Amino acid sequence: MTAQPLLSVEEVSASYGAVRALDGVSLTVPAKGVCAVLGANGAGKTTLLRTLTGLHPATSGRVLLDGEDITRLPAEKVITRGLAHVPEGGGVIVELTVEENLRLGGLWRSDRRDKSTLNEVLELFPPLAQRRGKSASTLSGGERQMLAIGRALMARPKVLLLDEPSLGLAPLITEQIFTLLRDLRDRTGLTVVLVEQNAAGALAVTDTGFVLNQGRVVAEGPSSDLLSDDRTRHAYLGF
Ligand code: ATP
Repeated sequence: MTAQPLLSVEEVSASYGAVRALDGVSLTVPAKGVCAVLGANGAGKTTLLRTLTGLHPATSGRVLLDGEDITRLPAEKVITRGLAHVPEGGGVIVELTVEENLRLGGLWRSDRRDKSTLNEVLELFPPLAQRRGKSASTLSGGERQMLAIGRALMARPKVLLLDEPSLGLAPLITEQIFTLLRDLRDRTGLTVVLVEQNAAGALAVTDTGFVLNQGRVVAEGPSSDLLSDDRTRHAYLGF
């Protein structure tokens, strides 16, 4: 018997007025899977994440998290069900300290006074622990991305969705962030969906991948297969 996927996206469509950004997208992510969603500019990747997290409405289709239909839930309910989103650019608040940024991520939890999650997150990210009282403005680009991920983990999600964490980062730092995601899965059992334009880098650290083009899934499979699929690489991934 095949295990039920933790996250199931079934024939989801979404639009901006007359622009159909998602056109019947289906994908599944197993528990503890690390999955890449790839595609060129405008393929629909950000819209997919925004639709999953209740920030943009689906016009049709269903999103199931651990078997529960979360399609029409507002964003603040989606996060309490276990789906956390790191938006493009991270959204770190530079006027606040590292710790204050982290605490914001726990606001949706009913037990938000519980200190153990903060300590666990700080343990996962030693550079953040060293700077917890410092202004987030003192962090490097890679550390800010780490802080954005740490803040999302404060909600104790089952699934972490990341929108282009490599944006604006040097190649070496990108590699560190990608490796960190896989380590997080190995250490905490987290399930990860990584949206990226850096397809080669993302496929190197994920188990499976889905390629979007004009709002549709045009290729999917084990990341190693996609990496060696010349036709898909040349047509949609640009390498
Ligand atoms: P990128 O890598 O550039 O972020 P993407 O794959 O994330 O691209 P989306 O941002 O989801 O793609 O865009 C999908 C489609 O929806 C594109 O045609 C885009 O122009 C359109 N679109 C996105 N946001 C809006 C908006 N706010 N209003 C109108 N059209 C939009």
